[in-house]
Amino acid sequence: MSSSGRFHQPPSCRRPAALAQSLRASTTTVTCRWRQQYHHPLAAAPLRLRAVPVRATDAARQPFDHLSGAVKSEEGTHPRLKIAIVGFGNYGQFLARTMVQQGHTVLAHSRSDHSAAAATIGASFYADAHDLCECQPDVVLLSTSILSAEAVLRSLPVHRFRRSTLFADVLSVKEFPKNLLLAYLPGDFDVICTHPMFGPESARDGWAGLPFVFDEVRVGDGPARRARADAFLDVFAREGCRMVEMSCAEHDAHAAETQFLTHTVGRMLATLDLKSTPINTKGYETLLRLVDNTCSDSFDLYNGLFMYNNNATELLHRLESAMDSVKRRLFDGLHEVLRRQLFEGSPPLNRDSSFPAESSLDDGR
Ligand code: NAP
Repeated sequence: MSSSGRFHQPPSCRRPAALAQSLRASTTTVTCRWRQQYHHPLAAAPLRLRAVPVRATDAARQPFDHLSGAVKSEEGTHPRLKIAIVGFGNYGQFLARTMVQQGHTVLAHSRSDHSAAAATIGASFYADAHDLCECQPDVVLLSTSILSAEAVLRSLPVHRFRRSTLFADVLSVKEFPKNLLLAYLPGDFDVICTHPMFGPESARDGWAGLPFVFDEVRVGDGPARRARADAFLDVFAREGCRMVEMSCAEHDAHAAETQFLTHTVGRMLATLDLKSTPINTKGYETLLRLVDNTCSDSFDLYNGLFMYNNNATELLHRLESAMDSVKRRLFDGLHEVLRRQLFEGSPPLNRDSSFPAESSLDDGR
């Protein structure tokens, strides 16, 4: 995707001092696409970003350059990261495609054998988590189902990663993984919780303008950590995502409506088995698309939105009572017409229609 087509981008700004120093040989100013400015000390610190862009499939063989920090991509503009994606299903692969295209080295680990898919994308697959750890990724990105996240995290030998690894997640709920990551990871790890609010369906035409929510739960002091966090967030910013920084709790409150409601309505409509007709209205086509968009995700994903968002139960109750209140309004109106016909002798609305049978007036209440 062309980076010239970015939407909603705030003015560019310089990267933190350490990264700027590491790039001082380059004449290109590295831009920050989602922040107005940084407030970091001008101290130089060794960067952990690798010096050489590598082919993804060579990932395990590349030396990791802790000390030089000199990062120069072919474009001369952005650092390359070594990103380990844990949970290489539908979504992990979707993200990997863009990361590889951006020149990052992507390592994948998953319960199932996704080595063929990884090879097609240009990532390296590691069936054994210990082998993954030995590759010393800069970033570990958790992309498992919400329901399996705790078991997956527990199964990782996290102490074998480098001491200051950046751990991030893309789970569609946020308070739950935040608490998990803080509970299971060593205190030295940086933690960024994220939710790209789009998927393979809704981002079929690219990520530009689509919201990316993030919460920097713990990013340690020091320009190197700051630069790495920024380089990771830049994966999304450089595609034109609308970068939205908000707390995990705030995300979950909003997501109950924006996401759980959308998925619930999509799944309800799917049970009606709606078909395209020769007289589709725009609104009806929107409904058909909603069914497609929501039901192409796994039921595990939907179930996770319910199980691990505190606000989901209340939303379901509200949805039920909204349906009741709409029905009540319709049936109250109908009862009123019938009462008038029965007791006041006013003419039926439609003389041709037969009097509604009592059973058809029963709305189940
Ligand atoms: P998903 O059904 O939520 O997750 C599938 C992934 O979870 C696969 O990598 C699968 O591994 C792994 N997994 C499931 N059960 C497991 C278990 N018991 N043990 C170990 N691993 C297990 O579908 P998804 O669409 O790929 O989503 C992945 C994550 O991204 C979820 O947390 C979801 O909330 C988030 N997300 C998805 C979207 C989207 O549009 N799809 C958008 C934003 C965020 P294997 O494939 O190896 O079996």
